[in-house]
Amino acid sequence: MTEPLTTEQVRGVLAAACQAIYDAREALSDADRQIGDGDHGVGMGRGFKAAREAVETADLTTVGDAFKAVGSAVMRTSGGASGAVFGTMFRGPSKVLKSETLDGEGLAQALEESAEQVQLRGKAKPGDKTMLDALVPAGLAARESADAGGDVLAVAKAAAAAAHDGCEATIDMKATVGKSKSLGERSLGYRDPGAISVTILLDTIAEAIEAA
Ligand code: ADP
Ligand code: MG
Repeated sequence: MTEPLTTEQVRGVLAAACQAIYDAREALSDADRQIGDGDHGVGMGRGFKAAREAVETADLTTVGDAFKAVGSAVMRTSGGASGAVFGTMFRGPSKVLKSETLDGEGLAQALEESAEQVQLRGKAKPGDKTMLDALVPAGLAARESADAGGDVLAVAKAAAAAAHDGCEATIDMKATVGKSKSLGERSLGYRDPGAISVTILLDTIAEAIEAA
């Protein structure tokens, strides 16, 4: 059984996730070059570099403060669709994370809230070939794991696995929102870049929790 994470552990886990996006920035732009304008890694790299610095230096009282530091930095610095979308992914759940520790239930609530807030803000839905096709299933899998008594590591692993499957499923989807929309049929055959980013974030979060 993995103990709930302390606020300081959450700081480290989110910093690792930010670093993973920065490290993957070239692959993310390559993915966006197939079905978008080729800049996904540029915005994400800039935003999550700033987010890593922000979360490493933020004053943290609650776990939510760490998520807020990441989301606010991304929103401020990423630009493009990803600034609003990935900023909301992390800022959205900050309000529900009022505790000084993060357990499986808390992580499930955070991912559900994330998925809901991104849908409210961006007006896209599952099936539109966006990052929501990874984030929404991740939230559902996290909820299922937490309801079955999953600890924070079990919930994180369940979410990461569902995000991975969701990202693979975007290969067979036609884009209906954002810059890929105009491609229609030609967006078939490629993963959505934002869904790849969600997978990297959740994979790294699960790995960092395991190592914490
Ligand atoms: P831009 O589209 O401005 O060039 P990016 O390339 O950084 O921005 O990000 C593109 C990604 O943003 C897409 O792959 C998709 O996952 C995500 N995205 C775009 N619009 C939305 C939306 N309305 N809701 C959720 N995600 C979205
Ligand atoms: Mg782009």
